[in-house]
Amino acid sequence: MGPMQQDQQTLFDLQGEIAAWSVEWLKQLDERPVARPDDPQPPARSLPQDGLGLSAVWQAFVRDLAPGFNASPGPRYLGFVTGGVTPAALAGDWLTSVIDQNVASTGNSIATAVELQVLDWLCQLLDLPSGLVGSLTTGATAANLLGMACARQYAGWRQGRDIARDGIGGAAIRVFSATPHASSLKVLGLVGLGRGQVTEVPSLADSEAMDTDALRQLLVDCPVPGKIVIASAGTVTGTDFDDLRAIAALCREHHAWLHVDGAFGLFSRLDAERRAWTEGIELADSITCDGHKWLNVPYDCGIFLTRHPDLLQQCCSVSAPYLASDSALPTLMDRGIEQSRRFRALPLWFSLLAYGRDGFGRMVADNCRQAAALADWLEASADFELLKPPKLNVVIFRPKNGATAACLRRLNQGGEVFMTPGQWQGRDGIRAAFSNWRTDDADVERVCRALASAVGA
Ligand SMILES: *Cc1c(COP(=O)(O)O)cnc(C)c1O
Repeated sequence: MGPMQQDQQTLFDLQGEIAAWSVEWLKQLDERPVARPDDPQPPARSLPQDGLGLSAVWQAFVRDLAPGFNASPGPRYLGFVTGGVTPAALAGDWLTSVIDQNVASTGNSIATAVELQVLDWLCQLLDLPSGLVGSLTTGATAANLLGMACARQYAGWRQGRDIARDGIGGAAIRVFSATPHASSLKVLGLVGLGRGQVTEVPSLADSEAMDTDALRQLLVDCPVPGKIVIASAGTVTGTDFDDLRAIAALCREHHAWLHVDGAFGLFSRLDAERRAWTEGIELADSITCDGHKWLNVPYDCGIFLTRHPDLLQQCCSVSAPYLASDSALPTLMDRGIEQSRRFRALPLWFSLLAYGRDGFGRMVADNCRQAAALADWLEASADFELLKPPKLNVVIFRPKNGATAACLRRLNQGGEVFMTPGQWQGRDGIRAAFSNWRTDDADVERVCRALASAVGA
């Protein structure tokens, strides 16, 4: 019997221990150091000739790696927009590895039909029009990449070219955006449109939202047939929203593709008071959203949707004899980047079914209320200045003494709270984003105490 055959039994024997360790880790999440800014390293070791076997590797994990992880799924990790993992999503994610389905071709598993169902549920959750098609991606970056691939294909078609087939050649394409996320710039480089080629549309005063009149003028003046507009539904610092209805009307008039990046901001649609900010989203040509941020499923989950299945198909579909299938279902590899990939719909299937629209609506409302509570405390404090009143789940502020970097460093070294640097209208600040179901009001109080001590030290 070979080592892998032997380890099958080891796995069965160890599963109770691994599950018990997992339960303990989750129970202690609240008390673990929220971040490890000291950059822990695994012990130096070269690849063994003879493997150690699962049992020894499990012990090495517990001893050598486990102490080095942060508590990013915990309630006071407020960096980036990190999100947590709901209990149901975690169960679904564990099972995804157990059953290890490849959501590539159709006709031999229920997996593709489940992903199609989940995409439909996501449209219901976010109240998006039916008839959108798409796929689950590795994250919002990959969804933005699919958006730009489709946009590029459309811009090529406007000038008689099939760019997916013939390459970008001399196609004339211009991209317009006010405050694109860094990942959109990366994507423009990847798809050959060029990071440096974005025409920057001015923003409204004291906002990261696009000045629609300025866009109108730029589109009127643009002599090029291929036009793409990247709009934001929730910018990372101001959580500002572009006026999608007005922008969509301009895009229609000027034959421009409208891509909306709503990685986390789209969840504002779950809140009746904030619902109006994304009116017009139904007119977008393509939409990006994230599962592994505010939707609280484990990493490896973004969402891409488009009204143009034909263009997506042109970008993603390649044929080969071994890929033929008799199934009536669409093949998801024709709607995404990968040929083979993880069954990333299952954690969503669990979580959406377990908590429903109300469950996620409550989480979004709670996180926004927590951001507002932190902002109130900062405003009342003698030591901090709020750089902008929060609209959604992000707070941006700085210490009045001007020692922003030192305050953030002390805060993050304290192990209670983790935040990241930010900038508002050219001023350096500290940024806190609430996006986790675990965070409660007592956590906000702990955050305030940690800030008071970080600024005073
Ligand atoms: C986080 C984020 C992205 C990138 O998403 P990943 O899931 O990290 O790839 C894109 N756009 C916006 C607005 C984001 O907040």
